Amino acid sequence: MAILKVARMGHPVLRRKCAPIAPGQITGHKVQDLIRDMYETMSEYNGVGLAAPQVHNAVRLAIAGGEVDENGEPIYRVLINPEVTVLDEERTLGMYEGCLSVPGLRGWVERPAKIRVKAYNEKGRQEEFTLEGFPAIVTQHECDHLDGVLYVDRITDMTRFAFEDEAERFLEHVDEDDEKEAEL
Ligand code: ZN
Repeated sequence: MAILKVARMGHPVLRRKCAPIAPGQITGHKVQDLIRDMYETMSEYNGVGLAAPQVHNAVRLAIAGGEVDENGEPIYRVLINPEVTVLDEERTLGMYEGCLSVPGLRGWVERPAKIRVKAYNEKGRQEEFTLEGFPAIVTQHECDHLDGVLYVDRITDMTRFAFEDEAERFLEHVDEDDEKEAEL
Protein backbone atom coordinates (compact mmCIF):
# COMPACT_ATOMS: atom_id res chain seq x y z
CA MET A 1 0.00 0.00 0.00
CA ALA A 2 1.26 3.43 -0.80
CA ILE A 3 0.11 6.98 -1.12
CA LEU A 4 1.08 8.01 -4.63
CA LYS A 5 2.31 11.35 -5.85
CA VAL A 6 -0.42 13.28 -7.66
CA ALA A 7 0.51 14.83 -11.03
CA ARG A 8 -0.38 18.50 -11.32
CA MET A 9 -1.56 20.43 -14.37
CA GLY A 10 1.40 20.95 -16.68
CA HIS A 11 2.70 17.39 -16.30
CA PRO A 12 2.38 15.73 -19.72
CA VAL A 13 0.93 12.51 -18.24
CA LEU A 14 -2.32 14.45 -17.68
CA ARG A 15 -2.57 15.23 -21.39
CA ARG A 16 -2.09 11.76 -22.83
CA LYS A 17 -4.77 9.53 -24.22
CA CYS A 18 -4.51 6.59 -21.83
CA ALA A 19 -4.12 2.99 -23.01
CA PRO A 20 -6.79 0.35 -22.35
CA ILE A 21 -6.08 -2.42 -19.87
CA ALA A 22 -6.36 -5.97 -21.19
CA PRO A 23 -9.36 -7.48 -19.34
CA GLY A 24 -7.31 -10.57 -18.51
CA GLN A 25 -4.86 -8.41 -16.56
CA ILE A 26 -7.43 -6.77 -14.29
CA THR A 27 -7.21 -9.39 -11.54
CA GLY A 28 -3.41 -9.54 -11.78
CA HIS A 29 -1.34 -8.04 -8.98
CA LYS A 30 -0.13 -5.07 -11.02
CA VAL A 31 -3.61 -3.65 -11.66
CA GLN A 32 -4.91 -4.70 -8.23
CA ASP A 33 -1.97 -2.96 -6.50
CA LEU A 34 -2.61 0.18 -8.53
CA ILE A 35 -6.31 0.16 -7.57
CA ARG A 36 -5.41 -0.24 -3.89
CA ASP A 37 -2.86 2.56 -4.02
CA MET A 38 -5.31 4.81 -5.85
CA TYR A 39 -7.94 4.24 -3.15
CA GLU A 40 -5.39 5.09 -0.50
CA THR A 41 -4.22 8.20 -2.36
CA MET A 42 -7.77 9.38 -3.01
CA SER A 43 -8.77 9.02 0.62
CA GLU A 44 -5.56 10.70 1.85
CA TYR A 45 -6.40 13.77 -0.23
CA ASN A 46 -10.19 13.64 0.34
CA GLY A 47 -10.92 13.00 -3.30
CA VAL A 48 -14.31 11.85 -4.56
CA GLY A 49 -12.62 10.36 -7.58
CA LEU A 50 -9.19 9.71 -9.01
CA ALA A 51 -7.95 8.66 -12.44
CA ALA A 52 -4.80 6.62 -13.05
CA PRO A 53 -3.02 9.35 -15.07
CA GLN A 54 -3.29 11.58 -11.98
CA VAL A 55 -0.89 9.15 -10.31
CA HIS A 56 1.38 8.93 -13.37
CA ASN A 57 -0.15 5.77 -14.88
CA ALA A 58 -1.48 6.40 -18.36
CA VAL A 59 -4.01 3.56 -18.36
CA ARG A 60 -7.80 3.60 -18.62
CA LEU A 61 -8.60 3.12 -14.95
CA ALA A 62 -10.43 5.46 -12.61
CA ILE A 63 -12.25 5.41 -9.30
CA ALA A 64 -15.45 7.44 -9.16
CA GLY A 65 -17.57 8.27 -6.13
CA GLY A 66 -20.47 10.56 -5.41
CA GLU A 67 -23.08 7.84 -4.93
CA VAL A 68 -24.42 6.67 -1.57
CA ASP A 69 -26.01 3.37 -0.63
CA GLU A 70 -29.32 2.96 1.24
CA ASN A 71 -27.53 3.65 4.57
CA GLY A 72 -26.00 6.85 3.27
CA GLU A 73 -22.55 5.28 3.01
CA PRO A 74 -20.49 6.43 0.03
CA ILE A 75 -20.08 4.07 -2.90
CA TYR A 76 -17.00 4.15 -5.10
CA ARG A 77 -16.85 2.39 -8.43
CA VAL A 78 -13.72 1.19 -10.14
CA LEU A 79 -14.03 1.95 -13.86
CA ILE A 80 -11.71 0.15 -16.25
CA ASN A 81 -11.88 0.94 -19.99
CA PRO A 82 -15.09 2.93 -19.37
CA GLU A 83 -17.40 3.99 -22.19
CA VAL A 84 -19.80 6.83 -21.49
CA THR A 85 -22.99 7.45 -23.47
CA VAL A 86 -24.95 10.65 -22.89
CA LEU A 87 -28.62 9.76 -22.36
CA ASP A 88 -30.02 13.25 -22.41
CA GLU A 89 -28.30 15.91 -24.53
CA GLU A 90 -30.73 18.61 -23.40
CA ARG A 91 -30.43 18.46 -19.64
CA THR A 92 -27.13 19.66 -18.21
CA LEU A 93 -25.88 20.11 -14.70
CA GLY A 94 -23.49 22.90 -13.76
CA MET A 95 -21.11 22.73 -10.86
CA TYR A 96 -17.93 24.32 -9.57
CA GLU A 97 -15.53 21.47 -10.14
CA GLY A 98 -12.21 20.98 -8.46
CA CYS A 99 -9.39 18.57 -9.23
CA LEU A 100 -6.53 17.11 -7.21
CA SER A 101 -4.33 17.85 -10.23
CA VAL A 102 -5.39 21.52 -10.26
CA PRO A 103 -5.12 22.26 -6.54
CA GLY A 104 -6.71 25.30 -4.94
CA LEU A 105 -8.91 26.24 -7.89
CA ARG A 106 -12.57 25.90 -8.81
CA GLY A 107 -14.24 26.34 -12.17
CA TRP A 108 -17.83 26.25 -13.38
CA VAL A 109 -18.45 23.38 -15.78
CA GLU A 110 -21.72 22.21 -17.31
CA ARG A 111 -22.07 18.59 -18.31
CA PRO A 112 -24.85 16.25 -19.36
CA ALA A 113 -26.88 15.31 -16.28
CA LYS A 114 -27.63 11.70 -17.24
CA ILE A 115 -25.25 9.12 -18.66
CA ARG A 116 -24.95 5.40 -19.26
CA VAL A 117 -21.62 3.84 -18.32
CA LYS A 118 -20.16 0.56 -19.51
CA ALA A 119 -16.92 -0.51 -17.81
CA TYR A 120 -15.04 -3.40 -16.32
CA ASN A 121 -14.98 -3.43 -12.53
CA GLU A 122 -12.06 -4.42 -10.27
CA LYS A 123 -13.10 -8.09 -10.50
CA GLY A 124 -12.78 -8.02 -14.28
CA ARG A 125 -16.52 -8.18 -14.86
CA GLN A 126 -18.22 -5.87 -17.32
CA GLU A 127 -20.93 -3.70 -15.79
CA GLU A 128 -23.44 -1.27 -17.21
CA PHE A 129 -25.29 1.33 -15.19
CA THR A 130 -26.98 4.71 -15.40
CA LEU A 131 -25.90 7.75 -13.42
CA GLU A 132 -27.62 11.06 -12.81
CA GLY A 133 -26.68 14.25 -11.04
CA PHE A 134 -23.49 14.54 -8.99
CA PRO A 135 -22.25 10.95 -9.57
CA ALA A 136 -22.68 11.53 -13.34
CA ILE A 137 -20.50 14.64 -13.06
CA VAL A 138 -17.80 12.79 -11.11
CA THR A 139 -17.69 9.93 -13.63
CA GLN A 140 -17.49 12.29 -16.62
CA HIS A 141 -14.70 14.26 -14.94
CA GLU A 142 -12.73 11.05 -14.28
CA CYS A 143 -13.33 9.64 -17.77
CA ASP A 144 -12.12 12.94 -19.26
CA HIS A 145 -8.80 12.38 -17.46
CA LEU A 146 -8.38 9.13 -19.43
CA ASP A 147 -8.48 11.17 -22.66
CA GLY A 148 -6.08 13.84 -21.42
CA VAL A 149 -8.86 16.35 -20.79
CA LEU A 150 -8.99 18.52 -17.66
CA TYR A 151 -12.08 20.29 -16.34
CA VAL A 152 -10.41 23.63 -17.04
CA ASP A 153 -10.71 22.81 -20.77
CA ARG A 154 -14.49 22.76 -20.34
CA ILE A 155 -14.90 26.13 -18.61
CA THR A 156 -16.76 28.41 -21.00
CA ASP A 157 -16.93 31.50 -18.77
CA MET A 158 -13.49 32.33 -17.37
CA THR A 159 -15.01 34.80 -14.88
CA ARG A 160 -16.23 31.68 -13.11
CA PHE A 161 -12.76 30.22 -12.65
CA ALA A 162 -11.31 31.17 -9.29
CA PHE A 163 -9.20 30.25 -6.32
CA GLU A 164 -11.18 28.14 -3.90
CA ASP A 165 -11.40 30.69 -1.06
CA GLU A 166 -12.44 33.50 -3.39
CA ALA A 167 -14.95 31.26 -5.16
CA GLU A 168 -16.59 30.51 -1.83
CA ARG A 169 -16.63 34.19 -0.88
CA PHE A 170 -17.64 35.85 -4.12
CA LEU A 171 -19.19 33.46 -6.60
CA GLU A 172 -22.76 32.29 -6.62
CA HIS A 173 -23.82 28.67 -6.62
CA VAL A 174 -20.67 27.37 -4.99
CA ASP A 175 -21.97 24.23 -3.43
CA GLU A 176 -21.62 24.29 0.33
CA ASP A 177 -22.28 20.60 0.65
CA ASP A 178 -19.00 19.22 1.99
CA GLU A 179 -19.06 16.11 -0.14
CA LYS A 180 -19.44 18.14 -3.31
CA GLU A 181 -16.63 20.45 -2.29
CA ALA A 182 -14.24 17.55 -2.56
CA GLU A 183 -11.82 17.25 -5.44
CA LEU A 184 -12.11 14.92 -8.37
ZN1 ZN B 1 -9.55 15.63 -11.77
